[in-house]
Amino acid sequence: MNPLEPMPDDWQRALAIVAHPDDLEYGCAAAIAGWTGAGKHVAYLLATRGEAGIDTLEPGKAGPLREQEQRASAAVVGVDVVEFLDHADGVITYGTRLRADLAAAIRRHRPELVITLNHHDTWGGTSWNTPDHRDLGRAVLDAAGDAGNRWIFPGEGGEPWNGVRWVAVAASPQATHAVDVTDTLELGVRSLVEHRAYIKALTDQDPEDYARELLTGFATRTAERFGGRPAVTFELFAR
Ligand SMILES: [Zn+2]
Repeated sequence: MNPLEPMPDDWQRALAIVAHPDDLEYGCAAAIAGWTGAGKHVAYLLATRGEAGIDTLEPGKAGPLREQEQRASAAVVGVDVVEFLDHADGVITYGTRLRADLAAAIRRHRPELVITLNHHDTWGGTSWNTPDHRDLGRAVLDAAGDAGNRWIFPGEGGEPWNGVRWVAVAASPQATHAVDVTDTLELGVRSLVEHRAYIKALTDQDPEDYARELLTGFATRTAERFGGRPAVTFELFAR
C-alpha cells in the first residue's frame, strides 16, 4: 500500500455531508475533533435521520432517537451545527433534487473543505457499499461544483459559493491522505459511543468496548502507511 500524505491544514471552514447518523463516527470524527480543537469550524449535514437503521425499532421512533444520538456525538467533537435534509433512509437517489439540496447547503455554509463518506462501489475488495453512501457521496462531489455556478440551481441557498477547495472522502478504499489522531482517537471513540441505541441493536458487545476496539483497529492499520502514527484516512479531490 502507498504511503499517505498529510491532509491540508490551511483552511477554516468545513462542512461534512453524509447519508446517515453514525457515518462520520466510524473514524472520521477523530480527525474532526483535532480540527475543531485547533479552532476550525466544522458543521454536519445529514441527508437522512437514519430512520431505517434499527431493525427492532420502527422508523417513526428510530428517526428522532438517531437524530438525538447524532447531535450528542457531534457535540463530543466540538460540532454544534447539525442539520438534516430529510431524504428517505435507504432510498437516497442520485439526481438533480439531491444535488440542488446539497448545493444549497454548500452555498449557505461556504466551506473550503467538504467532507463525505465513501462513494465507491465497495469498501475495498468485495465488501459491497450501500446505495445511500454511493449516491450521496457522488452527489456531494458534484454539488461542490454546482454550488459555484450561478446558473445551476439559481437562487437555491443564496449566492453562489465557488470556494470549495477540496472534497475529502472518508473511509475510501482509494485513500490518498491521512490525519494523525494520536491525541483525538479517544474523542472519536466517545463520539461513536453516543450512538448507543444503534450499537446495542447491532451487537451484544459493550458499546464502549465495541467502539474502542473498532476505531483503534482502523487507526493502527492506517499507521503502517503514515509513519507509524495512528490516523484516519481520506481520498482527497482537489478543485
Ligand atoms: Zn451510513
